[in-house]
Amino acid sequence: MKTEFILLAAKAVNEAILANESEIESLDREIGDGDHFINMKRGCTTIVAMHGELTMLSPDAALQRIGMKLLSTIGGASGPLIASFFMAMAKTVKEQGAETLPENAAAFAAGVEAIKSRGKAGLGEKTMLDVLIPVSRSFTQLSAEGVALPELLDVLKAAAEQGMLSTRDMIATKGRAAFLGERAIGHIDPGARSSQVIISTICDLAAIQ
Ligand code: ADP
Ligand code: MG
Repeated sequence: MKTEFILLAAKAVNEAILANESEIESLDREIGDGDHFINMKRGCTTIVAMHGELTMLSPDAALQRIGMKLLSTIGGASGPLIASFFMAMAKTVKEQGAETLPENAAAFAAGVEAIKSRGKAGLGEKTMLDVLIPVSRSFTQLSAEGVALPELLDVLKAAAEQGMLSTRDMIATKGRAAFLGERAIGHIDPGARSSQVIISTICDLAAIQ
């Protein structure tokens, strides 16, 4: 992962989130408070606007700067979670580098672990983690096995899609949707959908690098 890739990803993710505005907004209106799109958009706009200050930084420094900034800009439950993802990635990239696929998988896994511990949540709780955990597991496993990049990216996209869809039949035990009990069944989690959109976008970008 190079800083240039982080900047390209920020731009592509911003466009993808904007393109899915109505769906992400209505999912959070159904089982949350309707602000998830706004929170994600604010985060994306913030990162894109940091282009000038990030471009000269090493990847770990850029990730750290993004995490710090997001902490004070994205609101809601998702803000601190996403900020902690970036800061944990930054720490791992600084310590271990992010040249190879297994190193990138390790950085991603550290970010996901940070969300788990910050949110005190795991698999099956109808959150973004139902996308992030399976993607991280597949990324770690396939990169260790030396699977070629195009195939690896396809598997990660499929894992994200499957994880996102799996939230439809879950009862939420974390976040606002937990107040709904069984009424949350039948609705996809907004954070799972935005995470899947982001992963799919970054995989598409990585495929043409
Ligand atoms: P808020 O819930 O404060 O309105 P958002 O609407 O931006 O914040 O984000 C809601 C999303 O955050 C949920 O759809 C879910 O995916 C995720 N989320 C909520 N609580 C947690 C948690 N404890 N751990 C992981 N993800 C969570
Ligand atoms: Mg919300």
